[in-house]
Amino acid sequence: MVADGSAAPPSARRPLRVAIIGAGPAGIFAADALTRQDDVPVSIDLIDRLPTPFGLVRHGIAPDHPKMRAIRETLHRSLDQPLVRFVGNVDIGVDLSLEELREHVDAVIYTYGAALDRRLGIPGEELPGSLAATDVVAWYTGHPDADRERVEAALALARSVVVIGVGNVALDVARVLAREPSELESTDMPQHVLDVLAAAPVEQVTILGRRGPAQAAFTTQELRELDEMTAATVLVDPVDLELDPASEERAAADRVVGRNLGVLRGWAGHVLEAGRTPLRLRFFRRPVRLVGEGRVTGIEVERTAVDGDGRAVGTGELELLPADLVVRSVGYRGTPLPGLPVDESSGTVPHDGVGRVQRDGRSSAGEYVAGWIKRGPSGVVGTNKHDARETVDALLADAADGTLAVRGAVDDLVETLQARGAEPVLLEDWRAIDAAEVALGASRGRARTTMHEREALLAAVRAVVR
Ligand code: NAP
Repeated sequence: MVADGSAAPPSARRPLRVAIIGAGPAGIFAADALTRQDDVPVSIDLIDRLPTPFGLVRHGIAPDHPKMRAIRETLHRSLDQPLVRFVGNVDIGVDLSLEELREHVDAVIYTYGAALDRRLGIPGEELPGSLAATDVVAWYTGHPDADRERVEAALALARSVVVIGVGNVALDVARVLAREPSELESTDMPQHVLDVLAAAPVEQVTILGRRGPAQAAFTTQELRELDEMTAATVLVDPVDLELDPASEERAAADRVVGRNLGVLRGWAGHVLEAGRTPLRLRFFRRPVRLVGEGRVTGIEVERTAVDGDGRAVGTGELELLPADLVVRSVGYRGTPLPGLPVDESSGTVPHDGVGRVQRDGRSSAGEYVAGWIKRGPSGVVGTNKHDARETVDALLADAADGTLAVRGAVDDLVETLQARGAEPVLLEDWRAIDAAEVALGASRGRARTTMHEREALLAAVRAVVR
């Protein structure tokens, strides 16, 4: 509201203040879309819980995928825009409630992703030696909140590893665990991660799909890469590649499925040579329970068949696979931010189809959503660009028709946070962290080493005298 209490259209003097919660790809793409238009004057606060930007580009994309991780350079250009202010190290719901945030801005875009793991709901899931892929990925990418102790204790005993799920995250985890230390040496993984992986006694890795290869979620490039490792050999049972007519039809109609099958069939004749790590891809196996006294020693699976609708149907045939480490890689799940509705079953924020948040069945003025917390955990980094654009278009349309207006003078978000004793990390602070990571990497002959402790990240900020 302006001084007399009424709302007004945004202007150069009083732009539309937009807070974006989550500085991962979806948030950065949303900020970028807002800066690339001239119709509505805007100023943007791009808020993140971590002192660092880039979300899953930093803490999701596997460190042995440096080309994919290089997208951060592109994302950085959006952070450098003068209309965008990065505000890291601020946890909405903890440092500031959502209600309080909304008093500082005219609109909020939620882009905080889907950070939790999905559960299997089978006995033994909680045993030591059972980890979620989200835990493993957080650990090997140096996420400050990673449960180091739990992951490292499990890896210290991991001779036989079973990864459940046949998505790209499952391939990432299996690949990282099956790699030779020399293959990871040049990555930006923290040193303790490299050391623990080098010492892990991994002898075999098995990836389990509950349905057939025609229903697998991985993509061909990621699949091919499994066979490009120094000391691991991919093994596929030819029986798993015999498909029912409906799956054959699917392979003929879908190029990705057809290519995946071509790659898998090319591996069916592989023979394991002595000294190499077997990396088995097994399909038509549904996890039934994790077995073990005090810790995981195996996993019981049931053989399945795929019915005409592509569903896995149990055959009653059970098999016990030895496993010291079971990694559940069956997808991510979004969490509610205090004060924001999240649909329990999908783990997404209800919206009108183009990103306007719905509360009680109606669009809530000034609230928008983009990325995984909007559409669920699917797609590649670039998918978020179109998704964020769609949401920003909805926001701009609301600003154009007056649904969204500026509400007069508001306090500055960063000043409010600082007055409360919070320690927001701004762009120049992030640059100090960035420089410290590059320096740490250089000390070991690498381009960068990720700093994994929140305190170390903040110490790099405090070390810069202004
Ligand atoms: P995902 O692609 O959804 O795959 C999840 C896998 O878990 C599927 O194979 C699914 O099988 C299986 N699954 C689900 N519930 C299960 C259960 N109860 N028992 C056994 N298996 C179960 O998820 P994601 O791998 O976490 O990947 C998330 C997104 O990130 C995807 O879009 C992915 O492509 C993307 N990503 C991309 C890259 C890359 O481009 N390199 C890397 C990592 C991630 P069903 O199909 O039978 O449900």
